[in-house]
Amino acid sequence: MAQIVDTPKRRALMREIGEQGWLGITWPAEHGGKEGDGVYEYLLNEALAGRGGPQIGKGVGIIGKTLIRHGNETLKRELLPKILRNEVEFAIGYSEPDAGSDAAAMKLKATRDGDGWRLNGQKTWTTSAHFAEWYWVGARTDPDAPKHHGITLFLVPLDHPGITINPIWTMGDERTNDVFFDDVWVHDDYVVGEVNRGFQYISEALDLERFTMFTFSQIEQRLDLLCEHVRTATRDDEPLRADPVVRRQIARLVTDGEVARVLGLRFVAASQKGGAPPTAEASEYKLFATELSQRLADASMDIAGPGTQLRVHTDDAPMKGRAESTYRYTVIDTIGGGASEIQKNIIGRRKLGLPKNF
Ligand SMILES: Cc1cc2nc3c(=O)[nH]c(=O)nc-3n(C[C@H](O)[C@H](O)[C@H](O)COP(=O)(O)OP(=O)(O)OC[C@H]3O[C@@H](n4cnc5c(N)ncnc54)[C@H](O)[C@@H]3O)c2cc1C
Repeated sequence: MAQIVDTPKRRALMREIGEQGWLGITWPAEHGGKEGDGVYEYLLNEALAGRGGPQIGKGVGIIGKTLIRHGNETLKRELLPKILRNEVEFAIGYSEPDAGSDAAAMKLKATRDGDGWRLNGQKTWTTSAHFAEWYWVGARTDPDAPKHHGITLFLVPLDHPGITINPIWTMGDERTNDVFFDDVWVHDDYVVGEVNRGFQYISEALDLERFTMFTFSQIEQRLDLLCEHVRTATRDDEPLRADPVVRRQIARLVTDGEVARVLGLRFVAASQKGGAPPTAEASEYKLFATELSQRLADASMDIAGPGTQLRVHTDDAPMKGRAESTYRYTVIDTIGGGASEIQKNIIGRRKLGLPKNF
C-alpha cells in the first residue's frame, strides 16, 4: 500500500489527472466514465505508484465503484462528479477495538432519530481520517439481527463537530487514527444502499481495496534495486553476484514477482463491467503480493548485510537505506485490508468450498 499523505501537490496532480478524464476509466458513461477496459485503469494505477505518485485511490477505485452499484441518486449526484475531479478524499471505517479481522462484530451504534440516524461509539485504525472530507463508515443499526445482517453503511462528513480524531503512529511511519463519535446525526440520504445490508457492500468494497491499494510496481522497483545491488556489490572482495546462494534467492524472488504480476492481471481479467468484484482473485493477489513484499524485504536485509539497518535516505547505506524502511513498512501491508490469515480463509471458503472456521 503506498503511503497516503495529503499534500497540495498530490491533490493538484490528481486533479490534473481527473481533468484529463483519466479517473473513472472503467466507470459507466452516465456517471462521467469512459466505459474502458479495466486493464487501462490498472496501468494508470501502477504507473502512478511506480513513480511514487498517489494511486487512483479510495475515491475512484473503491467508494465510487461501490456507490455506482449500490448508492442512492442523491449520493451519486453529489459525490461521483467530485470523485472524478478528485475534489474529495475518503477515509474508511470498518475496524474497531474489538472488531478487526471479524469486521462484522462492529459495535458503533446507530439509532433511529427522525429522518436520520444518531451515531455513537469508536472506530480505530482509520487511515486518512485526519485529512479526508468524507468517512465511509459501518455502524450497527439492528443489534438483534445476526451480526452480518444488522450493519448499515453511512457517509459522514469528517468535519462534523461530534467527531474526534486522534493519531496512531505506525512502525511504517504512517499515521492512522482512532475516531470517536459523539451524537453524530446523519440524514437518511447519506445511507449507502439498504439499511442493514451494509456488510454486503463492505465485502465488495474490501475486494476492491485488496486489489487497488496494494500495487505491484513498488515490488518491482524493490526487486530492481536489490538486483542492481547484487550486480555491483562485493562481499569479502568477491562479487556478490558470484555467490550461488544469493543467485538462487534472487532467481526465486524474481520468479515470484512474475507470479504476483499475473495474479494482479487475473483480478483485472475476472472483473466484469458493472458486476461485483471477484473475491477469491482479490484475496489471492493481496495475499501473495504482500507476503512477497515482506520476503523481499527480509532478503534485502539478509543479502546486503548489516549496513541495511541504517536509516532510509542514508547516502552510504546499501540501497540508500531503502531496505530498512521497506522492512518496517511491508509488515503493515500484510495486515491492512484484512490480514494474510483472513485472505487464506477467504480463498479456502470461496474458491475451494471449505467450511467456515468462524
Ligand atoms: C496501518 C494500518 C492501517 C489500517 N487502516 C485501516 C482503515 O483505514 N480502515 C479500517 O477499517 N481498518 C484499517 N486497518 C485495520 C486492519 O484492517 C486490521 O488491523 C486487520 O483487519 C486486523 O485486525 P486486528 O488488528 O484487530 O487483528 P485481529 O483481528 O485481532 O487479528 C490478530 C491475528 O489473528 C489472526 N486471526 C484473526 N482471526 C482469524 C481467523 N478467523 N483465522 C485465522 N487467523 C485469524 C489475524 O490474521 C492476525 O494475525 C488498518 C490497520 C493497520 C495496521
